[in-house]
Amino acid sequence: CESSAATPAGRLAGTPPPRARWHASHKGSYGDVAVIGGAPGMAGAALLAASAALHAGAGRVFAGLLDGRAALDASQPELMLRDAASLDLAQMTTVMGCGGGTAVRALLPRVLSTAHRLVIDADALNAIAFDPALQVLLESRGRRGQQTVLTPHPLEAARLLDVDTSAVQADRIGAAQRLANRFGSTVVLKGSGTVIAAPGERPSINLTGNARLASAGTGDVLAGMVGAALASGLPSLAAAREAVWLHGHRADRWPADTPLTAGALARGGVH
Ligand code: AMP
Ligand code: MG
Repeated sequence: CESSAATPAGRLAGTPPPRARWHASHKGSYGDVAVIGGAPGMAGAALLAASAALHAGAGRVFAGLLDGRAALDASQPELMLRDAASLDLAQMTTVMGCGGGTAVRALLPRVLSTAHRLVIDADALNAIAFDPALQVLLESRGRRGQQTVLTPHPLEAARLLDVDTSAVQADRIGAAQRLANRFGSTVVLKGSGTVIAAPGERPSINLTGNARLASAGTGDVLAGMVGAALASGLPSLAAAREAVWLHGHRADRWPADTPLTAGALARGGVH
């Protein structure tokens, strides 16, 4: 039965990470995730990532929005909305860049230096691609052994590698591995047949997912899911494999007569 398939980390597909019934735990035990992004007009991207992290089992999720406006998302009262600059990232897993616009640039030096575990997506990847000083900071995270996952789509990967998108698509495994080696990070090169690479590891191609994921916001959902997997304590390569697999699995189980939307995907899919 498909719903009982084991995920790459050996968890039960479609279920949140296990919690021992009698363990003397509290919400802080399951990981804090901070999502930083959501520049004016793009708050939805950050809120999708935050929702995905919450529904993937993170204990607490903070949304550090860059539009300086929203104080409460009434549809997601579990989320704690904060000024991005006020978050203590040394203790959290940070998901950086979803809908971030150019405003993420100013925050990146602090995030790259202090974030305990880090997922870098979208506009944060673009900012790094065009700024050698940020590239040096990302490389030094790798040397310090800090857990970092990059989640580029092919165009974002092409910018980071300073090549054309067609060159990335012609050798997706090679492109993902070059990025992983250069930045000492786990790399999720998205698209049909998502490639997952890490330094010194055999790259893999994820087999779940389908073209219904080609829909606005699904990449933000993946970033939030990787964040929750990292916050649960999985190392970056295992967290990336787990989240990518589950993201695709939800899409594969989607009812044929229902459009796939990122909001529903973040909440665990339609059953
Ligand atoms: P983004 O490009 O950031 O919006 O992310 C889109 C998400 O949907 C990624 O996880 C992609 O791997 C996934 N996706 C997009 N198109 C396809 C496709 N044709 N087949 C499988 N997955 C896809
Ligand atoms: Mg994206």
